[in-house]
Amino acid sequence: MSVLIFVDQLDGHIKKASHEALTYGAKIAEQTGDTAEAVVLGSVNEDLAALGQHGVKTVHHVQHDNLKQFDSQVYTKVIAQVAEQSGAKVIVFSNNSSGKALAPRVAVRLKAGLVSGATSLPDTSASGGFTVRKNVFSGKAFATVAIKTDVKVISLNVNAFTISTGEGTAEVVPFNATVDAPKTKTVASTKTSGKVTLTEADIVVSAGRGLKGPENWKMVEELADELGAALACSRPVADAHWRPHNEHVGQTGIAIAPNLYIAIGISGAIQHLAGVNRSKTIVVINKDAEAPFFKAADYGIVGDAFDIVPKITEAVKKVKGH
Ligand SMILES: Cc1cc2nc3c(=O)[nH]c(=O)nc-3n(C[C@H](O)[C@H](O)[C@H](O)COP(=O)(O)OP(=O)(O)OC[C@H]3O[C@@H](n4cnc5c(N)ncnc54)[C@H](O)[C@@H]3O)c2cc1C
Repeated sequence: MSVLIFVDQLDGHIKKASHEALTYGAKIAEQTGDTAEAVVLGSVNEDLAALGQHGVKTVHHVQHDNLKQFDSQVYTKVIAQVAEQSGAKVIVFSNNSSGKALAPRVAVRLKAGLVSGATSLPDTSASGGFTVRKNVFSGKAFATVAIKTDVKVISLNVNAFTISTGEGTAEVVPFNATVDAPKTKTVASTKTSGKVTLTEADIVVSAGRGLKGPENWKMVEELADELGAALACSRPVADAHWRPHNEHVGQTGIAIAPNLYIAIGISGAIQHLAGVNRSKTIVVINKDAEAPFFKAADYGIVGDAFDIVPKITEAVKKVKGH
């Protein structure tokens, strides 16, 4: 029996979220006395044997022209074949855009119970059954869910589990799967995200209507550049076309969980918090001491963003020796 982890990649590079999922899946295998195995679809520019560092013993590698473009239906069928042949009893995905498309489809195909958005290791003890903790109501509460089927599918929230790296090397085994032709074809794609992908970012610098206009984003970009951070914004900012919609976070935007979220001139409306309150550390900069965001903040600075943000950027530069 095995725990099978889907390794998500973009342009041949394995996503950070997949390293988290690999560590998570390997720990589940340790708990249940099974082996951890991974499945990689398409060409990757990285050493797959090195995934053994996370505790994975085998990497099933499926290569086929039809896998060049991500297609959830095609990928689902291939992952299900690998899961069935490797005797997987737990299949782990990242709860990112690919995982959200794949985990439910794979669960249906394998008649498996699914918990999406897991935040910690399952309780696999005899008394615990197989229960998984997950966020509900946009992170306002937790639910503990028992999976009752023999095969179980879990998608792990991004940034919910720390990557651990050891010594191991995995055996990379080509897997001969039946791969359907995709029913759709991407005819053009334009990269809209900034230098750092928002959903994968460790640090996010975000700004709101307090910045008064798009011409003032330079100082936000400078801080983000210094920190190696992704940019985000509140919804009115995107609605007003000050910033592109792919930076809009919140209930109706992208949900993120970086290690550090810096909110500049954002009031902290409940709809905004719904997309960012899983961040590990929240820093709020707002000139209104009564702004609701301060209640959710780990650190707060009351003051004028136009005064404070350049000072923080200078301080970061100094620390980095620039
Ligand atoms: C159904 C629904 C869904 C929604 N979904 C989302 C969503 O997904 N994401 C989202 O963000 N919003 C969403 N909203 C909108 C949300 O309710 C708020 O209106 C919005 O988040 C407010 O954006 P803001 O904080 O940038 O602006 P404001 O509420 O106008 O706040 C601006 C803040 O900047 C501060 N400020 C002003 N000048 C300065 C300065 N010089 N220095 C420092 N601080 C300053 C002010 O004190 C204020 O707190 C949704 C609303 C609805 C009804």
